[in-house]
Amino acid sequence: MSFTLHGLAVSGGIAIGQAHLMSHATLEVSHLFISPRLVDKEVARFEAALLRVREEFATLKGRLQHTSAEFGAFIDLHSMILSDPELAEVPKQLIRERRCNAEWALVQQMEILVAQFESFDDPYLRERSYDVRQVVERVIKELVGQPGRVSLRTGKGIREENLIVVAHDLSPADVIAYKEHHFAAFVTDVGGSTSHTAILARSLRIPAVLGLHNARQLIHDNEVLIVDGTRGVLIVNPDPRILEEYRLRKSQIELERIKLRRLKTAKSVTLDGVDIDLQANIELPGDVAAALDGGAEGIGLFRTEFIFLNRGDMPTEDEQFEAYRTVVKGMGGRPVTIRTFDLGSDKDLHPEKVQGERLQSNPALGLRAIRLSLAEPKMFQTQLRAILRASKYGKIKLLIPMLSQAHEIDQTLAAVERAKSSLRGERIPFDETIQVGAMIEIPAAALAVGLFLRRMHFLSIGTNDLIQYTLAIDRSDEEVAPLYDPLHPAVLMLLAHTMASAEKMYIPVSICGELAGDPTLTRLLLGMGLRQFSMHPAQILSVKQKIMQSNCAELAPIVRRLLRHEEPAKIREQLEKLNSCV
Ligand code: PEP
Ligand code: MG
Repeated sequence: MSFTLHGLAVSGGIAIGQAHLMSHATLEVSHLFISPRLVDKEVARFEAALLRVREEFATLKGRLQHTSAEFGAFIDLHSMILSDPELAEVPKQLIRERRCNAEWALVQQMEILVAQFESFDDPYLRERSYDVRQVVERVIKELVGQPGRVSLRTGKGIREENLIVVAHDLSPADVIAYKEHHFAAFVTDVGGSTSHTAILARSLRIPAVLGLHNARQLIHDNEVLIVDGTRGVLIVNPDPRILEEYRLRKSQIELERIKLRRLKTAKSVTLDGVDIDLQANIELPGDVAAALDGGAEGIGLFRTEFIFLNRGDMPTEDEQFEAYRTVVKGMGGRPVTIRTFDLGSDKDLHPEKVQGERLQSNPALGLRAIRLSLAEPKMFQTQLRAILRASKYGKIKLLIPMLSQAHEIDQTLAAVERAKSSLRGERIPFDETIQVGAMIEIPAAALAVGLFLRRMHFLSIGTNDLIQYTLAIDRSDEEVAPLYDPLHPAVLMLLAHTMASAEKMYIPVSICGELAGDPTLTRLLLGMGLRQFSMHPAQILSVKQKIMQSNCAELAPIVRRLLRHEEPAKIREQLEKLNSCV
């Protein structure tokens, strides 16, 4: 059956390949013993999870019924599996008899059922083992309370280049692990377009569509898929005509890319001679090659938290120093802006190690980024010392995420001073004149930007979070993704205010959020006075092309007029005009 799903276009391009379903590592559950007095509670926990999944299926069916009768039948099948006593009752017996946790009991029973299905000769019945796994995964997810890591095993002899990863959810840590793989594309059921998962997808330079809702349930391994990452479309089992059309479009896109590559060595300068600094955002030292390949004039944002993820321990000062030095040396004298770790929220470091038993009900508003650094001074000092040591090898700037309060700035600067004086005491060289800047990513910081301008050497606007916090929209939640609007007048007001205030005090300001890499917004930002952009390397050449076709002196008055509007429709209309003029 051929069908199409629509989601969020997060990383452009077209991929054609075979589906590779990622199973949740949550299926590799721990085996825990339950004390006799807690057994009833464990059974109740299992029943509650079953009930929630049953309700979820009912809602899904209600939603899909109008789309396709076949989807309805598919959901019916999963509901039937869920209600089968083999899955709904036997695990309860196991919990009671073996005094084990619900997750383990369920997975034991799943293995037995999967083995039974796989032994059938009838291919239809054999395929049902997938359905059993999918249903169990959903229940496990309910039991665990949140999606877990995704295992990366691929079958023997399968070329990754032909595989399209289909997952229910991928954490940023999962995606960062993909840097060592060469998948053709990936699609997920959940995730917002500026979630860290989406940002990393763009850095992999492969097409990706997120927020497809039910892809993981509706697709089977090895089915042929087309991922249109520019339009947010996924086509399953396309007919030959559609396949041909997409093959053609894919080669056209590749041709465009080749043409764009000619701009790699061109100067990033506007028609009226204004130099624009285009820098790259990176996550790991290995990304330097892509930054240079994209023609970056420096690193505008090194998200160092990624060297803390996917490992069981903390990186030592020496390990961090090596990572930072590699980047600085790799950039051969170009500036490198190193952001101190922005852990917490969706980039959760083994919570038990850093945050003890503290439970965060709303992690994006919790102990994240600089808040966590100030709460964990030893960890922070280790990083600051490592960055300062690396500053001897090139031009490093230190960037601090998520600041909002004057006292946080003061504490941070005091921490930097402490790290410097400890290095001086040990006669370890570093750049005494290292500049310290603040990310402006909380509306309070943008509004009271004077606090920052008086204390910091430079600013970098993190629009991903600034939009999230201004509009109260969780950037990783696909349900509210349509409300995530970079052109909301409140967002534009905050950007304009921050840039104008910084200009008055001669403090350099850049934007390192995703909108800096969106060529449809380049002219708007130029007209607002932005002269430094930082983005994923893959976007640099498209933005450069736009810059080379723009005239700052002409844009400024048009943008001033655009900013007077509060009506979104008017703003969009003006933006369209802006993009078609000059
Ligand atoms: C931002 O918030 O815009 C930003 C660049 O930081 P991150 O995406 O890592 O939160
Ligand atoms: Mg941010």
